[in-house]
Amino acid sequence: MTQHSQQFASDNYAGICPEAWAAMERANSGSAIAYGEDRWTQLAADSLRTLFGTDCDVYFAFNGTAANSLALASLCHSYHSVICSSAAHVETDECGSPEFFSNGSKLLVAPSNDGKLTPEAVHRLATGRSDIHFPKARVVTITQPTETGQVYTIAEIKALSATCRELGLRLHMDGARFAHACATLDCNPADITWKAGVDVLCFGGTKNGMAAGEAILFFDRAMAEDFAYRCKQAGQLASKMRFLTAPWIGMLESGAWLKNARHANACALQLYRQIQDLPEVDLLFPVQSNAVFLNAPEQMLDVLRAKEWRFYTFIGGGARFMFAWDTDPAGVQELANDIRQAVSG
Ligand SMILES: *Cc1c(COP(=O)(O)O)cnc(C)c1O
Repeated sequence: MTQHSQQFASDNYAGICPEAWAAMERANSGSAIAYGEDRWTQLAADSLRTLFGTDCDVYFAFNGTAANSLALASLCHSYHSVICSSAAHVETDECGSPEFFSNGSKLLVAPSNDGKLTPEAVHRLATGRSDIHFPKARVVTITQPTETGQVYTIAEIKALSATCRELGLRLHMDGARFAHACATLDCNPADITWKAGVDVLCFGGTKNGMAAGEAILFFDRAMAEDFAYRCKQAGQLASKMRFLTAPWIGMLESGAWLKNARHANACALQLYRQIQDLPEVDLLFPVQSNAVFLNAPEQMLDVLRAKEWRFYTFIGGGARFMFAWDTDPAGVQELANDIRQAVSG
């Protein structure tokens, strides 16, 4: 790929972690009933219910765009609207999929620098218009951690859900990196979801070390009505479902879901610590999960590019570096060294 053994442009550059791989291999014995009627899928759903300590309804989709879009579509009608932050993946990186699968539900976007939504912003957007000409607000979606790596505290989520209840809104959580937030807060998954008032969670498996797959958890089973049909119609019902679901069993039983996230978070902190003394380089956002966003002179970024480092600058407005379950601390050191060299000219 390049002279570097690893790149940190995206946490999706990583492969499949051993625990997920082994679980997939275990499931690859003989035949099993198709379309999710197999025992692996049952076990995976049960493992998730155990992890969350509640009898939620669980579904599986191939990716996060589908999981978010179908979950949001199930929470509202086409004439409703969905409140999100301006940095939300559903707004900026899903190609209109939430609007498409909801048959036109409008996203109402709250300006946000760090990607977080506040109760005030929700209140403003939900109550700004109440006439027949404007789509009725019905859902709020938050990303945990945000696209800029910021983690909502338990109190922040509770405050948002209180506002949602007051206004008759449902609360969805895009948890593409949900495990990373649990690792940061050192909390129980339940504490930042159903116990804090979240109705539906999209729990990301891909960025946590699986080949593919996101779990959709409905803490209020009534909201999942006909969800299986939505998945099928959207092309998200895997016929050989066991290969999407068995890895969840491996990840949860081994604890890899949390171990992987902790490692990725620690690598982000490592990079930060190795460059924090450089006056030319600023952090755009505090490091709270597995992302580091750097604000640095363009010529310095060009030096890094010339050294064949890959990174995005279209998210958050700076150079983004993401760390994964497989990040080698030596690679982080290599990047840090090159950043130091780029600064010194
Ligand atoms: C990666 C990501 C997703 C899912 O993206 P897919 O490419 O569709 O799997 C959703 N939300 C956030 C915040 C993400 O970072």
